[in-house]
Amino acid sequence: MKAEIICTGAELLSGKTINTNAAYLSKELSAIGIEVAYHTVVGDNEKELYESIDTCTKRADILIITGGLGATYDDLTKETAARYFKREMIFDKISYDNIVSYFEYTKREISENNKKQAYIPEGSIALKNERGTAPGIILKEKDKTVILLPGPPYEMQHMFLKYVKKYLVDLSGNVIISKDINFFGISEAALEYRLRSLMISSKNPVIAPYAKKGEVVIRVSARAENKEKAEEILNPVTEKICKEFSDYIYATDALNLESVLVEKLTQANKKVAVAESCTGGLVSKRITDISGASKVFECEICSYSDRIKESILGVKRETLEKYTAVSKETAAEMAIGIKRLTGADIAVSVTGVAGPGDLSVDKPYGLVYIGIKSEKYSDVLELKLGGNDKSDRELIRNLAASYAINACLRAI
Ligand code: AMP
Ligand code: MG
Repeated sequence: MKAEIICTGAELLSGKTINTNAAYLSKELSAIGIEVAYHTVVGDNEKELYESIDTCTKRADILIITGGLGATYDDLTKETAARYFKREMIFDKISYDNIVSYFEYTKREISENNKKQAYIPEGSIALKNERGTAPGIILKEKDKTVILLPGPPYEMQHMFLKYVKKYLVDLSGNVIISKDINFFGISEAALEYRLRSLMISSKNPVIAPYAKKGEVVIRVSARAENKEKAEEILNPVTEKICKEFSDYIYATDALNLESVLVEKLTQANKKVAVAESCTGGLVSKRITDISGASKVFECEICSYSDRIKESILGVKRETLEKYTAVSKETAAEMAIGIKRLTGADIAVSVTGVAGPGDLSVDKPYGLVYIGIKSEKYSDVLELKLGGNDKSDRELIRNLAASYAINACLRAI
C-alpha cells in the first residue's frame, strides 16, 4: 500500500515551523509496512489544497492530511476534503460533546467557532482528540482512505498512535510486532553507518533508529498475517544485531539506562552509592527517578569542593594537589571513599570539567573521570565528552551521568 502525506499551514511554507509531522508520520508508516511516496506542503489556501488532494488521491491508496482542523477561518481542511469527495458537512453530536467536555475540563469558555469543529463529512468516522478540540477524520472513498489529523504534533501523534495506527494495520490485514534495542556508548551516526546496508535492504522487518538523549534506540518492526510468523521474521534480525553490537547494547525494550540499573540491582539484591562532583547530583537524581529505587539506592555525596572530597570521602590531599580534582586518581579515591562510607555493593564516582568557562582547572571541557568500585571490580574511565562544538554544559553533564550509570550496570 502506498501513502502520501499533505501538511497544511502557511507557517510550514514560510519556514517558521519545521514540518515534523511529515517526518513523524513517514517513520511510523514505514514501521507498519506502508510506503510513503510523496510529502506535500500547502498553505492555508482552499484551491491549492483541493488540487493537492486531487493529485495525491489519484496516486496513493492512503492520504494523510495534517493541520487546518482548527476553529478559525483559515482552517479549511475538512471542508475542502468534503467538497472534493462530494460529502455534506453534518453535525456530529459525539464530537460536540467531546469538545464541550474538553472546554469544561480545561476551564475555558467555548466559543461559537468551536461548534464548527463538531461538523464532519457525511459518512466519515470522527476520531476523538484527547489533547485538544479538533476531532480527526477517517473518510473512505471506494478503495481510497483519507485521514485528517490535527496540526499540533502533540495532538497529532497521540491520535495517530491511539486510533490511526491500528486502523491502518487492520486495513493491511497484518499483525505488527516490534522490539527496541537500547544502545549506549555508540553514536547514532556510527551505528547507522554500520547498519546502513541492512537498514536499506530489510523491508520486513523494518529497522529504524530513534535517537534519545545520549542514547540510541533501534526499533525493529516485523509484519505478517499472525504473531508467530511476525516473530519468525523479527527474531533472527534482532538476534543478529544484538550479537554484532553486544558491547554497546545494555537492554532491549528498556525505558532508559537508569530503569535497567534499578531492575538489575534489585534482581542481584545489591545497592549502589554515588559520589558526584561535576554532575552535581544528576546521577542520583536519575536513579531515584525510577520507582523502586529505594531498595537499591544507598546514598549520594555531592562533593563539589575539594574540601569535602578530602574530609568526607577521604581523598588524599596529596592526590588533589598532585593530580587535581579532575583526575583518574581522584575519581578512584572518591569511589573507594563512598564505598567505605556506605558499605554499598557498587560505588560510582564522577569528577570532571562540565564547562564552559570554568577556568579554575587547567583541563579541557568535557574531560570526565568515572570511578567504579565493587567488591571484585574497580576501574576508572577517562571520557572526553567535549571537543569541537560539544562544549555544552548540560550535554556534558547528562552524558557523564549516563556513562556513570552504564558503568554501574557493567559492574553488576
Ligand atoms: P493547525 O491545526 O493547522 O491550526 O496547526 C496548529 C499548529 O500546529 C501550527 O501553528 C503549528 O505550530 C503546528 N503544526 C501544524 N502543522 C505542523 C507540522 N506539519 N509540523 C509541525 N508542526 C505543525
Ligand atoms: Mg493551520
